[in-house]
Amino acid sequence: MSKSIFVTGGASGLGLAMCRHFHAQGWTVGLGDVDQAGLDRALAELGPERARGFSLDVRSRPAWDEALAGFAEFAGGRIDVLVNNAGISTRVLFQDLPPGGFDQEIDINLRGVLHGCQAILPFMGRGQGGTIINVASAAGLYGTARLAVYSATKGAVRSLSEALDLDLGLIGIRVACLMPGMTDTPILDKLDDPKWGNMRKIVEARGVKIGRPEDLARRVGEMLETDELHYGFAVHDEAQVAHLNQVRAKRRGVLKPQSFAKTRP
Ligand code: NAD
Repeated sequence: MSKSIFVTGGASGLGLAMCRHFHAQGWTVGLGDVDQAGLDRALAELGPERARGFSLDVRSRPAWDEALAGFAEFAGGRIDVLVNNAGISTRVLFQDLPPGGFDQEIDINLRGVLHGCQAILPFMGRGQGGTIINVASAAGLYGTARLAVYSATKGAVRSLSEALDLDLGLIGIRVACLMPGMTDTPILDKLDDPKWGNMRKIVEARGVKIGRPEDLARRVGEMLETDELHYGFAVHDEAQVAHLNQVRAKRRGVLKPQSFAKTRP
């Protein structure tokens, strides 16, 4: 029986790259996504023998239960790895968000991961164990301009993973966290904004390295093989950190004199 992996957001970008990688290694893969057309395309590529798609909105616990039960049956009764990868990001200045305009990102990026970590327990907690990999982001290490809510959700996923590795370790489940830097997936184009421009072009112009999703998928494979890995790894991009520091310095330089001038006659 081949090993099995269920990947949320498996219809696109990083999730699809992971599905391709593990499928090529002989694994049985389950793809959960809200994008039915994307699922259909991915399944046409992978073939029906060791791949199955599930319509899954990670915000819905009943949808999780249905998808995981369906995949466990398809995979011969066990799920070895769950990757909580589905995520969205909204590029906006925090002060421009409408009241409560942070709900969707929190619901998908954080609550969706929490649902997944609970819903998988019946499939990994019966003594057979397993691994959960949660996809956070380098933005969870250093908060990023116009991505405040995104950064907060990814920081939360990071600490959640660390804590869960301790709790779920008691029932034989390992939890690790992947923290990618900028990676060449459709999410970069979804971050297009008439006001702020194309994210991919801006990032490239800064000299920040954009990673390849297939390289990250390979790193996930390495994570699974490395026993010592207690808590995933982070891709620490020096160019990105240097850029953030520059932006901070520039903003402080602009804002401080103005605010002092206003408050002090
Ligand atoms: P992507 O947009 O190509 O893929 C995201 C997938 O998630 C899509 O298939 C989308 O349909 C799916 N999805 C969205 N909402 C969903 C929901 N409610 N339920 C189920 N599926 C849903 O983006 P990606 O870059 O491949 O992103 C994958 C993960 O990697 C995300 O969590 C993202 O935050 C993270 N990440 C990406 C980058 C990057 O630069 N690309 C960097 C750091 C972290």
